[in-house]
Amino acid sequence: MEKGPFNLIMLGRSGSGKGTQAQILAQEFNLEYIGTGDLLRKFSEQKNAAARRMKETMAQGKLTPSWMPFFIWMQKLAYTDAHKGVLFDGSPRMLGEAITLDEVLDWFDRKNVEVLLIDISRDTAHQRLLKRRVCGVCKHGAYVENEQTPLTHCQYCGGNLTIRAEDNPDGIDARLDWFDAEVTKVIEHYRAKGNLIVVSGETDPETVHREILEELAKKNILPHQEKE
Ligand SMILES: [Zn+2]
Repeated sequence: MEKGPFNLIMLGRSGSGKGTQAQILAQEFNLEYIGTGDLLRKFSEQKNAAARRMKETMAQGKLTPSWMPFFIWMQKLAYTDAHKGVLFDGSPRMLGEAITLDEVLDWFDRKNVEVLLIDISRDTAHQRLLKRRVCGVCKHGAYVENEQTPLTHCQYCGGNLTIRAEDNPDGIDARLDWFDAEVTKVIEHYRAKGNLIVVSGETDPETVHREILEELAKKNILPHQEKE
């Protein structure tokens, strides 16, 4: 029986390197990348009542309503070729969302779903987030490893590196608390379902990536080959 395209849901604490791995995997496995944060930001720039409301919510630092990601995801899924897999980066954030996402994917006949957790300790996440910078121009991330010779410019485009607005100590704690309280339930949900893959994110990005490929290969999921 044809299993249909491979679909991937990525989970991990802030600072796990999830976004970087997601971008690489989307390319390698020819998956439609669905980055919830970016899509929400783009949507909030549109000219309509929902977008204006969304912009207010985000500016006030409030949590977006739980149905909002689905509103965004559905628009993306509706226009994605049924033969192409999708990759979700940055969700689900709570058990209810995971259960609804399962239903959505099922309805789109996307049965071949794996969930990848890039696992780092709360302590590692905290340390990394305090050192995290982002390029104001190309949005590439960077880490300030050495306080004596601080990194100030992007290694990709030379743009100025800045601290993300949400990476202040309170913002960091709030996100890590949320992960412990809510995302842990999402992880247990997929563990019970049997489609959870866990890879340690404590090492360098190349090692993490290699381990992800090894775990996927064990499930017979191999990178996309361009047809000659
Ligand atoms: Zn840059």
